[in-house]
Amino acid sequence: MSRYPKPMARLIEELTRLPGIGPKTAQRLAFFLINQSPAEVQALADSIVEAKKRTNYCSQCFHFTEEDPCPICSDPKRNQNFICVVEEPRDVIAMERTKSFEGIYHVLHGAISPLEGIGPDQLRIKELVARIGPDVQEVVLATDPNVEGEATAMYLARLLKPIGVKVTRMAHGMPVGSDLEYVDEVTLAKALEGRREL
Ligand code: ZN
Repeated sequence: MSRYPKPMARLIEELTRLPGIGPKTAQRLAFFLINQSPAEVQALADSIVEAKKRTNYCSQCFHFTEEDPCPICSDPKRNQNFICVVEEPRDVIAMERTKSFEGIYHVLHGAISPLEGIGPDQLRIKELVARIGPDVQEVVLATDPNVEGEATAMYLARLLKPIGVKVTRMAHGMPVGSDLEYVDEVTLAKALEGRREL
């Protein structure tokens, strides 16, 4: 028999499915929620359902968005011919924080990882190639500076260069093995500035 009333056991079970939440944290969150007012709990539940319902992927860059195309793709002040390729939507948010990139993005939704069985076909690579029209001047590869990110950048460089587009890679100086998301803004802006041609 469970130590908790059934509805609470279910809540703990659901919370345990979230990334980074172990059984202990799930239990603590469940206790916290049970002690909140019904209105507070309702607001949290509504925000989750609303976010899920109203957040889609941009059909051009595959970043999270409410409208399609996303505000970045549809911003006339941004250079539509300079594409920054990143692994995840959270990397777009990290790059935007630097305020030093004026182009647009392409989100791959992962990196090539033979160990995890992720090949090019599971990523938004075909869609990237389809975006490289004659006007595109540069594609900067801003995948993470770790094994998977480097492998993905090399793969993309080999694929894109024959199309005749300039392909660059973010400069090192970013901590190797790190996640773009956690690199501070100054380092990220410098890495963009010091990008090199592949
Ligand atoms: Zn977009």
